[in-house]
Amino acid sequence: MDKQYKVQVKDLHKSYGENEVLKGIDLAVKPSEVVCMIGPSGSGKSTFLRCLNRLEVPNSGHIYIDGYDIADPKTDINLVRQNIGMVFQHFNLFPNMSVIDNITLAPVELKKMSKEEAQEAALHYLDIVGLKEKANVNPRTLSGGQKQRVAIARALAMKPDVMLFDEPTSALDPEMVGDVLGVMQDLAKEGMTMIVVTHEMGFAKRVADRVVFFHDGKIREDGTPEQIFEHPQHPDTQNFLNKVL
Ligand code: ADP
Ligand code: MG
Repeated sequence: MDKQYKVQVKDLHKSYGENEVLKGIDLAVKPSEVVCMIGPSGSGKSTFLRCLNRLEVPNSGHIYIDGYDIADPKTDINLVRQNIGMVFQHFNLFPNMSVIDNITLAPVELKKMSKEEAQEAALHYLDIVGLKEKANVNPRTLSGGQKQRVAIARALAMKPDVMLFDEPTSALDPEMVGDVLGVMQDLAKEGMTMIVVTHEMGFAKRVADRVVFFHDGKIREDGTPEQIFEHPQHPDTQNFLNKVL
């Protein structure tokens, strides 16, 4: 693996039975780089992200994150996973505990942080996502956008090296989308390394250092937002953009 990269993926393959979903993915992400992944539904974007923190086990290939090969069965995946934050379309907050308890759970259980230290940190991250005043409420009382911002705070509380986002705004009412994207843009500005699957082309244009176009289990095109959105080279990219823009 190459030390200049935070994440390096080499020739990644993943099949479900006969269905080959990832057909040899290569991707390298530098520290503080923001990579947006776009592409049609079913092209393998979620499967790819899930391989990155081994929610899925790839069939072959290598995934290096901070020098550890995630695809290697000998790697302590729980340790690695603590350094990878993941935010999903559906927020998966624990409904039976307060917002702040949602955030402190993993740092206390997995990082062995003291309760007081974890709570102080949680308030800091809630402040970052603009929800400090919601610390003690039940997540059920929050709007979708607020839940998603809590989910981001919860991921940040583990102090991850890399944040993965899988369509974090797709399930939100339109008026909630801006706040969540705003939080993500701030994170990017702060230097977080991020891989973001999104249909928000405006966000990709504004925030991404690089845009990757997925199609049929392969990366068809990889370039700056300007290259991908203004001068797409591959007909599949042109087709896709014509449909969504
Ligand atoms: P995307 O996120 O780009 O929409 P996915 O990665 O979700 O695409 O899905 C890619 C393909 O993998 C689809 O054909 C989907 O049906 C298949 N797939 C995804 N997850 C599973 C699974 N757990 N079992 C079987 N097939 C799956
Ligand atoms: Mg998906």
